[in-house]
Amino acid sequence: AETSERHWLEELNDEQRAAATHTGGPLLILAGAGTGKTTTLCARVAWLVAEGVPSERILLLTFTRRASREMLQRARGLVPASSRVLGGTFHSVAHRLVRRHAAALGLPGGFGVLDAGDAADVLDLLREEAGHAKARTRFPKKGTLLDIYSRTVNAQQPLSGVIAEHFPWVEDHREAISALFREYTARKKSLGVIDLDDLLLMWRALARDEVIGPRLASSFDHVLIDEYQDVNGLQVDLAQALGGFGCDVTAVGDDFQAIYGFRSASAGHILDFPEHFPGTRVVTLERNYRSTQPVLDAANELAAQATRAFPKRLRADRPGGVRPRVVHIRDEAAQAEEVANRVLEARENGSDLRDQAVLARTSHDSDALELELLRRKIPYVKYGGLKYLEAAHVKDFVALLRLADNGGDDIAWFRVLQLVEGLGPASARKAMAVMAGDDARGAGEPSEAADAGGAATRRGLSASARDEAGEGRLAAVPDRLAAWPAAREVIPSATRASADALIAALAVARDEQRAGPRAEGLREVLAPLVKARYPDGGVRVQDLDQLVAAAHQANDPRHFVAELVLDPPQSSADLAQPPHLDEDYLTLSTIHSAKGLEWDHVHVLAVYDGNFPADMAAGTSEQIDEERRLLYVGMTRARRTLSMYVPVRYHHRPRGFDDAHGYGKPSRFLTPEVLACCDVTRLPDDPLNPRGAPIVTARRLTVSPDSLFD
Ligand code: ATP
Ligand code: MG
Repeated sequence: AETSERHWLEELNDEQRAAATHTGGPLLILAGAGTGKTTTLCARVAWLVAEGVPSERILLLTFTRRASREMLQRARGLVPASSRVLGGTFHSVAHRLVRRHAAALGLPGGFGVLDAGDAADVLDLLREEAGHAKARTRFPKKGTLLDIYSRTVNAQQPLSGVIAEHFPWVEDHREAISALFREYTARKKSLGVIDLDDLLLMWRALARDEVIGPRLASSFDHVLIDEYQDVNGLQVDLAQALGGFGCDVTAVGDDFQAIYGFRSASAGHILDFPEHFPGTRVVTLERNYRSTQPVLDAANELAAQATRAFPKRLRADRPGGVRPRVVHIRDEAAQAEEVANRVLEARENGSDLRDQAVLARTSHDSDALELELLRRKIPYVKYGGLKYLEAAHVKDFVALLRLADNGGDDIAWFRVLQLVEGLGPASARKAMAVMAGDDARGAGEPSEAADAGGAATRRGLSASARDEAGEGRLAAVPDRLAAWPAAREVIPSATRASADALIAALAVARDEQRAGPRAEGLREVLAPLVKARYPDGGVRVQDLDQLVAAAHQANDPRHFVAELVLDPPQSSADLAQPPHLDEDYLTLSTIHSAKGLEWDHVHVLAVYDGNFPADMAAGTSEQIDEERRLLYVGMTRARRTLSMYVPVRYHHRPRGFDDAHGYGKPSRFLTPEVLACCDVTRLPDDPLNPRGAPIVTARRLTVSPDSLFD
């Protein structure tokens, strides 16, 4: 292509352009927030395509589906042929590969993917079966078990080390936990399901296989990874496996924005990149194009508190700007009112709602604000926190979709049976035992083997699923549907009629779904149940409609279901195109979900000690460092104005304890140095709180009686 067609390269600064057009060998862009790392990565994708690299030989890995969608849109805007670049999260790319090689991995064609909630449920079941639930010993609960399991797999550390380092209080149960984890992997195999961690493990197994590995790696010339500071050990292995076969790896990130340590990511990986990829060219970017200097001054002071940071100070390219505000305020209701006022004021002054965001540590921090926004009819979309997919009715729908693919997915069956009114977990479990041939573990009399790798369905497979899986051959999971006539006999008679109706409807919808995967039939099955079950059933049915619409938009419906699980949409607006694309709405987001994004006006809620850092995370100095980085990520999202609120009286929700009200001190991260870069205000005073919060006066006041002497 002609250079004249590459005018967009001219919009980059020299360092960015050098990175975008780098040739030969691994490349790392290690630079601060807002310096154009993601911009440069998009330009690099476009440049590679313009240089003649076939777009399907370029792989772009991001942390969310939304990020890859947006980045590819930008690249396409520069060079239209970028549209065929393969983009996605590590998990979604893994899913494509695992599906293609399902047979080699011993998986049935319609294997299901467990989300974190499902995985925890399976662990819970095994815990119960092993008698740990009854025992008086304090055996860890399912959430802790999943944390331990996931950390072990993702950090690729031996279980004993993980327990000693992160979960010392379960040390006494180490052997039992180890046995339970083995049982967990066996059970997944017999059910024909895998979990999120398996996807990465399986990708790695494929990448390391002497036959498949080189073929996989040679299918890409370039792998580009954004937000590399948040990769875990397994993901580093994958990048290295790809890089080992002549595929060039480009990584970008900022060690000071690493906020996924709790998921076994480590900022150390980005610093070790040059070691992992010999011959790496390291590019640093200095200038920040996002924010104005007063915002960066405060952020720089925050960063300077870190003990072991890679030193960098952000310098603004934009002129002017106003100092960030630190607002001490009575309580969460007053905070909500103040934020709403400011948002409307900014809108009066010409900023659309979509240029404004309210960020918080957890999604609960905005409860009061949501009420206020509803009251004032300010439209908003919420990201992060309780994921859309975790909503019960959405999970129900996904369970139905999963059954359409894999009739042996007992996790989905368990959920679907309980859709019947009056049919509880105990009855569901009994029915399932019958459906599984009187063996809850999934072996038994199979009626139909799952479709293997797209081949014809085999019937009447004699060996049990379990034996097959154990032998490493194709795992065929029997469909449970055929055993329904026997199973219905064990559930309460009052529920039989509606259960029959559900099963019949499911069978019909399933055949339709198989003929041409469309979710309408399943929606018809679920909609009346949802309407009957939830007081706000009408609204929830609209969510189902959106799921159906999104399924239609997906060009690969089966992958669509997995995608839902792999990268749960953050809200119904994130699922498909937002319902009213032209409507203006405010963004409410957790800081984790705001990574990489930016808005003109940013409000950070609840910046009190106990939230930043969280009580739960205030243990080790590493945890506190991560908490500081979290606040840093929040602050550096602001383009023009930044406000941080310290509610003096707040609603405290420590995990595992009752809610309580507390009196807040400002976050310890708001040191005098940070506050010296901010305007500190106190709004409005609370006469009911005589204790108040100590106000740190940040302004350097010059008090002089000189004027009296005129
Ligand atoms: P983060 O660390 O938060 O992910 P980043 O380093 O990825 O930030 P970008 O999001 O790429 O930064 O860029 C921040 C802003 O700066 C964007 O609005 C982008 O359009 C703008 N920008 C980047 N490079 C330039 C440039 N050379 N000239 C003008 N604007 C730029
Ligand atoms: Mg970025």
